[in-house]
Amino acid sequence: MSMVTTNQHVQRSDDERESVELDPVFVRPGEATSLPKFRLPARESLPETAYQIVHDEGMLDGNARLNLATFVGTWMDDRAQQLYLEAADKNMIDKDEYPQTAAIETRCWTMLADLWHAPDPDHTIGTSTIGSSEACMLGGLALKRRWQHARHSRGKPTDKPNLVMSSAVQVCWEKFCNYFDVEPRYVPISLEHPVLDGQGLAEYVDENTIGVVAIMGVTYTGMYEPVEQIAAALDEIEERTGLDVKIHVDGASGAMIAPFVQPDLAWDFRVPRVVSINTSGHKYGLVYPGLGWVVWRDAQCLPEDLVFKVSYLGGEMPTFALNFSRPGAQVLQQYYMFLRLGAEGYRRVQETSRAVATEMASEIAKIPAFELWNNGSDIPVFAWRLREGYTDKWNLYHLSDRLRTKGWLVPAYPMPADLTDITVQRIVVRNGFSRDLADAFLADLRTEVDYLDALRGPMPAEGQHPGFHH
Ligand SMILES: *Cc1c(COP(=O)(O)O)cnc(C)c1O
Repeated sequence: MSMVTTNQHVQRSDDERESVELDPVFVRPGEATSLPKFRLPARESLPETAYQIVHDEGMLDGNARLNLATFVGTWMDDRAQQLYLEAADKNMIDKDEYPQTAAIETRCWTMLADLWHAPDPDHTIGTSTIGSSEACMLGGLALKRRWQHARHSRGKPTDKPNLVMSSAVQVCWEKFCNYFDVEPRYVPISLEHPVLDGQGLAEYVDENTIGVVAIMGVTYTGMYEPVEQIAAALDEIEERTGLDVKIHVDGASGAMIAPFVQPDLAWDFRVPRVVSINTSGHKYGLVYPGLGWVVWRDAQCLPEDLVFKVSYLGGEMPTFALNFSRPGAQVLQQYYMFLRLGAEGYRRVQETSRAVATEMASEIAKIPAFELWNNGSDIPVFAWRLREGYTDKWNLYHLSDRLRTKGWLVPAYPMPADLTDITVQRIVVRNGFSRDLADAFLADLRTEVDYLDALRGPMPAEGQHPGFHH
């Protein structure tokens, strides 16, 4: 039984049991001894029984602390947990009923606007979301609507919008383009240009381009895209063609790393072309899953006609979101974390993760089998590949499987378009991944590499490997 948190098990298999058998300890006289798995049970269970079943099922999930695949927060302190429970019933949309939660939401994104150097943080606009995916959709929709307005005012057609971005974008941008009828224009990455860097951008940008996405912390590798350089390429395009194309920064992870760890790097509203930025509160914002943020440079960057004013909650509450109801607890947790850590605390936490990442990367670089893709010095994430010609007995998928037997989740996956024949393995270092754990991991990694190297023949041909879901 491997500990799998990817989507392998979500589909029911034909031979799966139809019912959950109850442990005899929990069966009360007269109660059923099993409950159907895929049909609503006909009758009630005692809370203890239902709890135990759900609890036991959850036990089979992986151990979050050993999961080096996810970016998402897996640990908060006791006070944060307490706030979570206290606020579990708060619906973020009920701003009239929970005005204080709404006020705290505004404080949080205003703090982010300031952190990201908005020229006038008190006159910017932003919102919390369920995660970066929703935040990116909102950023993309604002770009699209602004482009539409500009085109309409000049009597130009608006039926062919496109969005320019790296082929290594996170899947939410592919979704945005698919769901909102925008043509995605992927700039392929290559060994010479491992991130979108402005090179050759003019071939992709035209009058129908609603914007360019720059990623701070590419999901595949953790590398930053040079936002200033991309902006300079767009400046040049504007000089030549008159096209004024804006940038949305997808800072899902990096927007909560760079301000603390690379404060001099201009990737944010200091770059005049950047009109909006998103981040995931539940990644390096250090909050549990269910929280993202998006902030626009100023209120003008968000077209008014995207904002709805709803009266049925009391008051005339403006809302720009894909969801209506959504938990408010994570917003309070974010505010808790901002108060609890402050800028200095965030710096120390992120610096620590980054130090662990760069140290691990340099240890992995010493293993002859591997070649680093990057070293974890941007966000605390790095990837490596098998050195070319090193072995024909095993590959990184085999290594990933071997590490799973020790509880470590370290995915192997192909790089995006044009580099799909390159497989990498990636580690995301998060708060709580200590040097101790890193040492334990490195010891297991060396052991498993030695094991695979010592095989007398090649591993059997691969079965199906799970796709890449982060
Ligand atoms: C994780 C990630 C997303 C999606 O964020 P969620 O908060 O999981 O919805 C988008 N872009 C990048 C670069 C990411 O790393």
